[in-house]
Amino acid sequence: MANDYLNKINKKETNKILVSLRLFALKNNVPIITLEGMNFLNQIIKINNVKNILEIGTAIGYSSINMALNSNVNIVTIERDEEMYKLAQKNINENSLQSQISVVYEDALKTNELQLGEFDLIFIDAAKAQSINFFNKFKSILTKKGIIITDNLLFHGLIDTEVKSRDLKQLLRKIDNFNKFVVEQDDFDTYIYEIGDGMSLSIKKV
Ligand code: SAH
Ligand code: MG
Repeated sequence: MANDYLNKINKKETNKILVSLRLFALKNNVPIITLEGMNFLNQIIKINNVKNILEIGTAIGYSSINMALNSNVNIVTIERDEEMYKLAQKNINENSLQSQISVVYEDALKTNELQLGEFDLIFIDAAKAQSINFFNKFKSILTKKGIIITDNLLFHGLIDTEVKSRDLKQLLRKIDNFNKFVVEQDDFDTYIYEIGDGMSLSIKKV
């Protein structure tokens, strides 16, 4: 989580493309991954020699562009919001990353996953109330010993707090349900880490 000391010590984001995308996201309230979460994801990709990534939830394309710049990976990323889809496609085209990143404009819950191919890493970062559905749906196209990473599991530190809003309370209950669900999946080894906004790392056992 935000730690002033580590924020000073660790390298800042310097790539101009990424800095400007992050700034855009900040100004326009687009909830992109934290820098700490991004670094975690990118290091997992390198350690595991990941080649094919499926991302659920593109937004403006920040995380997929970052992963594509970090290593030689192919990414399929799914986005249901038209405005976000268009922005992501524009950002990808402007940086000539079309050969690495394909954006699918669709509700991921309606996607025919069997047409997407196989992936050695799936990054779930879309509607937080739907994470169990995404996990169950897309695990079938994960390679042997593949990885599923899910973002925003601590929800800005609100996960174990009392909130007033009914909608937020319901959302937090759904995230809590996902967290309890994901650590119990027998075909995966899963731990949830206090990295970024809370991320689970699930490694398929076979
Ligand atoms: N991964 C991005 C941030 C994604 S924000 C990054 O870190 O840079 C979450 C996005 O998921 C939003 O743009 C939202 O429109 C999209 N989303 C939510 N539910 C979805 C669904 N069912 N199918 C596809 N996209 C979805
Ligand atoms: Mg996220």
